Amino acid sequence: MPQAFVPSANVAQLRPSATIATAARARALKAAGRPIIDLSIGEPDFDTPDFIKAAAARAIAGGATKYTAPEGIMPLREAIAAVAGAQYRGGDAPQGLDVCVSGGSKQVLFNACFALFGPGDEVLVPTPAWTSYLDIVMLARATPVPVMGDPDDGFRVSVDALAAAATPRTKGIILNSPCNPTGTVLDADELRAILDLARAKGWWVISDEIYRRIAYERAAPGALDLVEARDNLVVVDGVAKAYAMTGWRIGWAVAPRAVAKTLADLQSQTTSNPNTPAQHAALAALTERDAAEESIAAMVRAFRARRDAALAILAEPGAPRVIAPGGAFYLYVDAGDFPADDGDTGGAFCRALLEEQDVAVVPGSAFGTPGWVRLSYAAAEHDVVTAVRRLVDTYRAATRVPA
Ligand code: PLP
Repeated sequence: MPQAFVPSANVAQLRPSATIATAARARALKAAGRPIIDLSIGEPDFDTPDFIKAAAARAIAGGATKYTAPEGIMPLREAIAAVAGAQYRGGDAPQGLDVCVSGGSKQVLFNACFALFGPGDEVLVPTPAWTSYLDIVMLARATPVPVMGDPDDGFRVSVDALAAAATPRTKGIILNSPCNPTGTVLDADELRAILDLARAKGWWVISDEIYRRIAYERAAPGALDLVEARDNLVVVDGVAKAYAMTGWRIGWAVAPRAVAKTLADLQSQTTSNPNTPAQHAALAALTERDAAEESIAAMVRAFRARRDAALAILAEPGAPRVIAPGGAFYLYVDAGDFPADDGDTGGAFCRALLEEQDVAVVPGSAFGTPGWVRLSYAAAEHDVVTAVRRLVDTYRAATRVPA
């Protein structure tokens, strides 16, 4: 008798990533011949810069094809420490911290949550939040506690709201600025206030700074800019977004030495080292600074132009409300009064856009706010403008009050 598969308790609550699921549906429709404009996936449409590809090719030709230390090659870890050090009041590599390199910042987040949290622990998650935080915390058998931000203030979560959501079981908080899905950027005072609260309460802070370099009017401060917050702090970053390297799968943690050692030990028992040629590619990204800064600046300029073109359409009368983003490459749009039999206005808006307008965006339910939708403007400007025009027209048509 074949044995029926019953998922173990480890994965009983596991859901596939909603953003990846939406992108897969868009790809399937495209393959079937539909002219889908896909604004669902959070991936720069730019190719990895040539100097990074060339470094990887040189590394492969030179024999960088073997295992490395589980925590990554020393020159890359040193380069990451130097970048963190430059942030850290423009000085040396931060004292007492160490670096562990992993297969993308998603693996870093998993390893960090698995190492820091466990059964009985609660983890505060300012919401809306990137879809994977909740699932990753649950995979660690801890309990995610969404703390709702204020939609009239870019969904910022106040220190008071965080303190009110805490219990004696609160063990940590996951921060993400610039934020996916809202694009909201915390300024230094806001970030410091949350870091101070976490220190006073004895919480761990996981600060996911994967979008830190993609900021528009003002640079986005990182937690390592704030000296007093470092011994309860794990900073997560990677090359995926700022260097258009999503497929290379390199991310890292800058963490207190004992934590970094545990992350490396965990990795030594699961995936071993991150991909070796990709580590060399990331090393080039972090050390060939002139070329890197030039490519980041060009991408940020292009993202900004697309954001502004989209916001101009969303400012028209009758358009849905949108959070004005200061960073990342997402627009978070209020589905407001979009008609929905089941009350999931964001889901209904997404379905209408995909099925009737050939535009793929992600429902806000994936981020803990069902009344919203997220679109990524990491796509050609012409596609972004066409898609946002259809989104606004669809919203207007569906919410028009009969004369
Ligand atoms: N953190 C956030 C907020 C993200 O949006 C993403 C990717 O979309 C990740 C982490 C994962 O990035 P990586 O490709 O480095 O695993």
